[in-house]
Amino acid sequence: MNGGLLTRQELTGQARTHIADVDEPDCALHAQVVAPFLNLRRAALADGIDLVPLSSFRDFSRQLAIWNGKFSGERTMVDAAGRTIDVDALSASERIDAILHWSALPGASRHHWGTDVDLIDRRAVPPGYRVQLTQEEFAARGPFAPLAAWLETNAARFGFFRPFRGVISGVAPEPWHFSFAPLAEFARRRLTPGVLRTALESVPLLGKEQVLERLDELHARYVAAIDPP
Ligand SMILES: [Zn+2]
Repeated sequence: MNGGLLTRQELTGQARTHIADVDEPDCALHAQVVAPFLNLRRAALADGIDLVPLSSFRDFSRQLAIWNGKFSGERTMVDAAGRTIDVDALSASERIDAILHWSALPGASRHHWGTDVDLIDRRAVPPGYRVQLTQEEFAARGPFAPLAAWLETNAARFGFFRPFRGVISGVAPEPWHFSFAPLAEFARRRLTPGVLRTALESVPLLGKEQVLERLDELHARYVAAIDPP
């Protein structure tokens, strides 16, 4: 695996030269993750689970739009208890903390690497059902409970693990988010605060001054600290 050789542009989602587009299921993954992912999917299908990514590769500009939307209040944000947050009442630094509980900094999303996917079971919900990716959907009586249980038992055999369990990582638990460890671990180590700083310095990121001031701390809590494979 040459995942350690991802360029700075690829690591931060500013290039997609490492990405391959897959038709079925429709997704975009690191070229070396396609085969392991399709193996995982095939095994799930054999057990009656139509495992597909709701989200796979995401580029820098998409993550920047998510960030700026939340920072400005254009996109609704909720707190850990699910209550809507009034962003106008928050300082820039408080907004940054509120966003990072759910969403990555542009340049620091694991989805930039093509190694990470948000997984659902396509057959577990009726047509037209709008997937929210909430704890409830993956909890005991949720539609994706069997998927979560299957992944807990089987994902590791295919090299996939859950980086956001809510144990070490500062990110809220994401039972749907899986990562291909052999490549993602290389990428995580290469995405240093310096690489991230370079990616952010010249972009229209809301709260940029505070983000750059706190970059080492934010990197430690939300990039370096993950729940290990
Ligand atoms: Zn995700």
